[in-house]
Amino acid sequence: MGMFGTRIIVVGAGIGGLASALALKARGADVTVLEQANAIEEVGAGIQVSPNGAAVLGALGLGPAFEEISVRARAVVLSDYRRPGEVVRLDLMRHAGDQRYAFVHRADLVDLLAEAVRRAGVHVRLLQKVDRVDPGSPPVLHMCNGAHLTADLVVGADGLHSRARAALNGAGKPFFTGQVAWRATVPNMVDLPDEARVYMGPGRHLVCYPLQGGSLVNLVAVQERADWTAESWSQSDDPANLRAAFADFSGLPAALLAQVSAPGLWGLFRHPVAETWHRGRVTLVGDAAHPTLPFMAQGANMALEDAWVLADELGKAPGIELGLAAYQARRQARARRVIAAANGNAWKYHLRSPLRGPAHLALSLGGRLAPARMVRQFDWLYRHDVTMGA
Ligand SMILES: Cc1cc2nc3c(=O)[nH]c(=O)nc-3n(C[C@H](O)[C@H](O)[C@H](O)COP(=O)(O)OP(=O)(O)OC[C@H]3O[C@@H](n4cnc5c(N)ncnc54)[C@H](O)[C@@H]3O)c2cc1C
Repeated sequence: MGMFGTRIIVVGAGIGGLASALALKARGADVTVLEQANAIEEVGAGIQVSPNGAAVLGALGLGPAFEEISVRARAVVLSDYRRPGEVVRLDLMRHAGDQRYAFVHRADLVDLLAEAVRRAGVHVRLLQKVDRVDPGSPPVLHMCNGAHLTADLVVGADGLHSRARAALNGAGKPFFTGQVAWRATVPNMVDLPDEARVYMGPGRHLVCYPLQGGSLVNLVAVQERADWTAESWSQSDDPANLRAAFADFSGLPAALLAQVSAPGLWGLFRHPVAETWHRGRVTLVGDAAHPTLPFMAQGANMALEDAWVLADELGKAPGIELGLAAYQARRQARARRVIAAANGNAWKYHLRSPLRGPAHLALSLGGRLAPARMVRQFDWLYRHDVTMGA
């Protein structure tokens, strides 16, 4: 099916929405993006883009520009929170072949996508909050300002609290996962090289990596918590709370934490992967379909994959509904597998005694005896190239 003249509304100008808009526009659709905020912007934090996500950026024509704004990751290093030295080093330059892993500032990636979307002729409308999605035929968007909008297809890229998800799957509330994450960026005063460092402690871990040519360091500090009582799922926090929660982390984490002045704090909430990704002419991409814990750094990468596959399947199918069914068939099992892997990583990072010692020893031995195997164990995830039909 050609998509020429197909009128598509994408709800949400996050990474999933912008990438979807770009991919659909490239196939000839007439695309409008509705965003509730008054500007397309992102939190001041970094993101890891793995080869599966980078493949989509490349296929959207953004490869060279993405290389310019990102830092190529040379290694992932796991360490104990108190002991000096490394538990294991995954050398990506030696063992990942031609696969490029990267760190990028979220705002830089969103700017890159937003600029490409506008250049391609997508209409972007800000301060447009969708209140309710009616997946009838045609679908109707009930806007918070009282207006009603319709289109040939509505793509819900409206994140964790998606109205489109609620329309297709019922209005279940996201659940608290028992983890919170602080995020901050600080100047790179510690000469952190181009690698991700993960410091594992009991019930907590801290990840850091460089951004923007190595001038900044991105920090993500995750702590297990019994509950989340704040009204909002994200808020700014007093840096003293972050430092207190990680007070027993020594070495580089301590030096970085000392510099943090204005961290954000997220309660990590999620839904199960949506059962229904499409009905009539409404569909879901990204966190709207499958919010994930960040422990495989895959939420945005999966949103990029969704965007490509959605446009690919709609472009090939003889009708919109058939294209949406093919999209869900190609994506749902993969989303479930990736999210299960992310859930599994949480407890591995957060082990307490007496399991921590033996587990770290096993990791360390694995790294020494079979370093390539340790890097390649996630080939199913990172070598999955949707732009080649996967
Ligand atoms: C601590 C942390 C670290 C992470 N690190 C990584 C990482 O390294 N790599 C990675 O791939 N992922 C990472 N993620 C996950 C990633 O951030 C998300 O999965 C990804 O941003 C989801 O993109 P999205 O476009 O689906 O949704 P969102 O980014 O949530 O975008 C949704 C958009 O829709 C808009 N919107 C919402 N509701 C409405 C409405 N009713 N009407 C109109 N507009 C609306 C919002 O304003 C927003 O702009 C991390 C997440 C966290 C919390």
